[in-house]
Amino acid sequence: MIAKTKYIPDGKKALKELPILHYLDAEYVYYPVTSARCPEGETCVRGGQFVKVGEVVGTRKGAFFEQPMHATVSGEVVGYEKHIDQSGKLVDCLIVKNDKKYELLPSIVDRTDVEIERLTKEEYIQIIKDAGLVGLGGSAFPTYIKLETKDPIEVVIANGVECEPNLISDYGVMINHPKEVIQGLIYAMKASGAKKGVIAIKKKYKEIEERMNFALKEFTDYNIEVVKVGNYYPQGWELAMIKNAIGISIPQGELLSKYGVLNFNVSTLQSIYAAVKKRLPVLERLFTVSGDGVFNSNFRARIGTLVSNLVELTGGYKDVEKPKVMILGGPMMGTNIQRDDVVMTHTTTSLIVLNEQPEKEEACVHCASCVYSCPVQIQPVQIMNAYKVRDKDALKMLEVNKCIECGLCSYVCPSKIHLTEYMRSGKRFAGK
Ligand code: SF4
Ligand code: SF4
Repeated sequence: MIAKTKYIPDGKKALKELPILHYLDAEYVYYPVTSARCPEGETCVRGGQFVKVGEVVGTRKGAFFEQPMHATVSGEVVGYEKHIDQSGKLVDCLIVKNDKKYELLPSIVDRTDVEIERLTKEEYIQIIKDAGLVGLGGSAFPTYIKLETKDPIEVVIANGVECEPNLISDYGVMINHPKEVIQGLIYAMKASGAKKGVIAIKKKYKEIEERMNFALKEFTDYNIEVVKVGNYYPQGWELAMIKNAIGISIPQGELLSKYGVLNFNVSTLQSIYAAVKKRLPVLERLFTVSGDGVFNSNFRARIGTLVSNLVELTGGYKDVEKPKVMILGGPMMGTNIQRDDVVMTHTTTSLIVLNEQPEKEEACVHCASCVYSCPVQIQPVQIMNAYKVRDKDALKMLEVNKCIECGLCSYVCPSKIHLTEYMRSGKRFAGK
């Protein structure tokens, strides 16, 4: 039987009901010197040096951009250690010992409304660049580069769909800080010249719809509306979300800006608000610990906090005698990790800890469920077969590069084949 599915249990209801615990006082914070997008980096501070909140402590270097690293506490630089970053890799991290005084750089004072009113497009973009802002939904793409486009932009979309199961940080931002999201959207509209803003949320998020529409009453000078899209997965994928929110079909691989559209995750928009209004880089974020192998909790924690500290605060692991599977991010698109000394960075949203269920991969039964469920209409089973014999031409013909690694093919496969892993490997192999 063909099992075509877009509806998967999202596991969010119980997590949304948990309080958000504030853990902002980690003894030590760690700043990875590199990231998945920035394979090189350097620090600009010495051991023993005192740093203040918001101070630049180094720079990560990617192929086409640089990202400043900022201190999120005040305190003393005490050295380097290796820890796991968002991509699951062991990387060098600068360590700052938190003095818990949170002394701000003197230049960090709120901009007045008059100052903000006078900002040019170029100044908005420079502010966002200097704050090191990246896509907080997980892409880590530099925010200023999207805004630098020369294409005329008609609409900026605030993507609040967050379709991955178990992730609720965007939900938390929208429910607790709707005005900051809207204000960030307005700044992104000003920086790009867009006249229209759209806040895209899931249909079932009635409480978010109400809260956003209530907050929008203070911003009637701007053309912004809340638009509801489907509850299914992967509705948060930007091309699906844009099509359903504003009716524009953008082919994969094309720049959104060519179609007059820019899309930012709602948490990214909140960070634009903080950079423009408060002159702040991203200092903290929401983080969720979930799964049947751990005591579940939501946290607000400082960038640089070790996730292992958060796990300890939840009460540690459950059923310690059972082997665990740990996933950084969501269960569909997250990264499997082997140890929990992960540094919480801008894009680290969640740790899922599962008691391992022995699951034996069976042979393909040719049911075609993976093919019918794929949102980009490629053929996972054929791609797997082509990868197994290392047939690069077939992988290219089967358009493996269109795969968005959403995980649906693995999810629906009755034979428990880890198809998404084959897709990842196939993409790497075809790209060599
Ligand atoms: S992981 Fe890739 S191949 Fe599998 S369903 Fe998603 S997009 Fe399609
Ligand atoms: S790989 Fe899995 S889902 Fe795809 S055809 Fe084979 S058994 Fe079905």
